[in-house]
Amino acid sequence: MPRGPNPFAWRPRPPYISAMTDSAPKLNDFLPGGPMAAPAAGSRTELVGLTRAELVREMERLGEKRFRADQIFNWIYFRGVTDFAAMTDISKALRARLAETCSIGRPHVVTAQVSQDGTRKWLLRLADGNEVETVFIPEEERGTLCVSSQVGCTLTCSFCHTGTQAWVRNLTAGEIAGQVMMARDALGEWPTPSDDRQITNVVFMGMGEPLFNYDHVKAAVDLIKDEKGLNFSRRRVTLSTSGIVPEIRRAGAEMRVMLAISLHAVRDALRDELVPVNRRWPLAALLAACRDYPSLSNARRITFEYVMLKGVNDSDADARELLRLLEGIPSKINLIPFNPWPGSRYETSAPERVQRFGEIIRSAGIMATVRTPRGQDIAAACGQLKSESVRIPGWKRRGETKEDHARA
Ligand code: SAH
Ligand code: SF4
Repeated sequence: MPRGPNPFAWRPRPPYISAMTDSAPKLNDFLPGGPMAAPAAGSRTELVGLTRAELVREMERLGEKRFRADQIFNWIYFRGVTDFAAMTDISKALRARLAETCSIGRPHVVTAQVSQDGTRKWLLRLADGNEVETVFIPEEERGTLCVSSQVGCTLTCSFCHTGTQAWVRNLTAGEIAGQVMMARDALGEWPTPSDDRQITNVVFMGMGEPLFNYDHVKAAVDLIKDEKGLNFSRRRVTLSTSGIVPEIRRAGAEMRVMLAISLHAVRDALRDELVPVNRRWPLAALLAACRDYPSLSNARRITFEYVMLKGVNDSDADARELLRLLEGIPSKINLIPFNPWPGSRYETSAPERVQRFGEIIRSAGIMATVRTPRGQDIAAACGQLKSESVRIPGWKRRGETKEDHARA
């Protein structure tokens, strides 16, 4: 779907309910495949999320030269300014015009929590009232920002809290890159530093399946990787996917970032249950796409995430089968002790079991790490993210009444 101009004016943001009225853009306008609403007369074009090419078009629309777009790109994505007045290499007249017609937004921070272990979690409210979460995990050697790519998830992995929440919509490129920008605001990390920064890595391990929101994720990744933008090396950006095979191949060709696969089971029958998308792309197809992922080497391995579920997938035989499946793929295994959530039907494997499973893998010369649950006191650990956003029925999104819908 065409992306710019971005109708998401994050500031000021309309109250949730106003999105349902005739004067406001319909929620349907933001859905994949839905028409992108032209900004209403008097509304501003949101610049965050526009790619370089889109920013050039925007400047041309305003009758400006292309190089203006480079200057503005730098102010927005490298320096992190949110006020046109700060753009000192741009004439006062143009700054005033930009301030009238455009905006540089951030998602609205509803709550910012800090865990005892230093993990931070932000609950963000988007222009249409939907909410997503972003988590920052500081470690000794690095700091990882875990971003969301969708509100809810279309998939229903049985051990994941987000999976219990219906899919509401895809995030736009601006809403994804905006999470990194909001975190840089919060941690005081502008202008984009190259060393000494707290946020060293970005992982798509928050809410949603990034490869089911391919175009917007790709546009956001481009902004995140751009040296004159958010400036993360592609080795420091990781897409985590439940296994959307065709898009893994596309991402390998077009994004070339690091890949993490949510494997979780070594037999199709069990994986069908834990990660239902396996019925569409079973293990053999998934592992073939992993084998073909470009530029794999000892230094560039695919991470296989494996949630440890007591008595379900954590036996010695499972560990040995895992080794067999991954033969020939430069891999590392990330064992994730299951993080329970209210109503979940699994238990976490005992620490000795996780340790034994890891030893079997390591004894074959494959790296296996155990992910220490972080930020549990603020429910920021993997699979615990779940905002209060709820699915809005199609008739409501189209601005119809329930009665219209019943008649149709
Ligand atoms: N949709 C993508 C990315 C988001 S999930 C994916 O599935 O890969 C990020 C990681 O957290 C995935 O590996 C997921 O399987 C894992 N996860 C989900 N729920 C979990 C839970 N309750 N405990 C531990 N890990 C979980
Ligand atoms: Fe969606 Fe990933 Fe959770 Fe599965 S594990 S429901 S793909 S967010």
